[in-house]
Amino acid sequence: MKKIGIIGGGQLGLMIAQEAHKLGVGVITLDPGADAPAFKYSDEHIVAAFDDGEAVEELCRRSDVVTYEFENVPGEILIPLVEKYNIPQGYKPLYDSQDRLREKDNARDNGFRTPKYKAVDDEESLRAAVAEIGIPSVLKTRTLGYDGHGQLVIKSEEDIARAVDMLSVPCILEEFIRFDYEVSLVMVSDGEKTVTFPVGRNIHRDGILDLCVVPVKEASDELLQRMKQTGEAFMKACGYRGILAVELFVRGDEFFFNEMAPRPHNSGHYTIEGCTTNQFRELARFLLEMPLEEPRLVAPTIMKNILGQDLEAAEALEKEGRDKVFVHLYGKTESRPKRKMGHVTFVGLNPEEYEAEYASRFVK
Ligand code: AMP
Repeated sequence: MKKIGIIGGGQLGLMIAQEAHKLGVGVITLDPGADAPAFKYSDEHIVAAFDDGEAVEELCRRSDVVTYEFENVPGEILIPLVEKYNIPQGYKPLYDSQDRLREKDNARDNGFRTPKYKAVDDEESLRAAVAEIGIPSVLKTRTLGYDGHGQLVIKSEEDIARAVDMLSVPCILEEFIRFDYEVSLVMVSDGEKTVTFPVGRNIHRDGILDLCVVPVKEASDELLQRMKQTGEAFMKACGYRGILAVELFVRGDEFFFNEMAPRPHNSGHYTIEGCTTNQFRELARFLLEMPLEEPRLVAPTIMKNILGQDLEAAEALEKEGRDKVFVHLYGKTESRPKRKMGHVTFVGLNPEEYEAEYASRFVK
């Protein structure tokens, strides 16, 4: 049996494994956590750190094709392996996304509009950047930030002094975009053909994705089409193959690149039941050199992320076994308030119906 190797054994690995099995292939995952969620769904697994070169190479050796679901795989580990093994996404999309400065330069050079931004290393360069970009603006660490970690909004002169503490690591200062809403674009390309999932509107709470709502009724068809075309042209211009998720800020009929990830995306979980094919399946099809399928939305869909504080509510919902309500629990052994424990997809539901029927079940 053919085997897909996955670097990372979190919920993304778990869902890739589920789709791989449906396509009749096996999965081997590598993760440092002995209880990684994807292990239960993997045919084989390796417990090792992402910077353990020998272990990552062993994963490659035991796999027919390799992908990653973890963004911070070190370059010195992966780059030499890309030469020797079948890792068709390569290292470039990871490299381009691992530093916010490089990521934004790359986005701008390849067709996306970005917020204004500037590299910042010390108080002097921060003051100069604030003078140029203006207030409010957002200071972000260049590496290892996620879900709003490593960020500070600068609203006043006083905030600049407070922000200096963050400058022990390289940062960028970004223009604060007063966006109307945020969306994401999930695409899979085999180098020839690119398929794009219907754009979802992302609603965050405390910097973490809370809901993804599809379709985006606030956006015109022309705007959605322009996002899709820009995304597809971007993938082509960058020479990316495999899966890419791009988060955008939308203001009126303009959109701005925020960040990207060369792996399945939390906002794309709705595609499992909300679309005719899903992000994990198309990634697996790409890895297996099967023709890609163009996804279609089945019905209006809402995905609710389940963090630790909502786990009981999700378990209760699962027991009710409601029609068109799909509860995914990742089986993580430890539940913490802000940890992603699962998600629920409501197919055939619009935001008003969700508010009326379900919102009150979850923590406000
Ligand atoms: P990030 O980790 O870069 O995705 O940022 C987390 C969240 O902070 C985003 O989803 C936005 O809601 C907000 N944010 C980040 N950058 C900006 C910006 N330049 N302007 C306005 N809001 C932002």
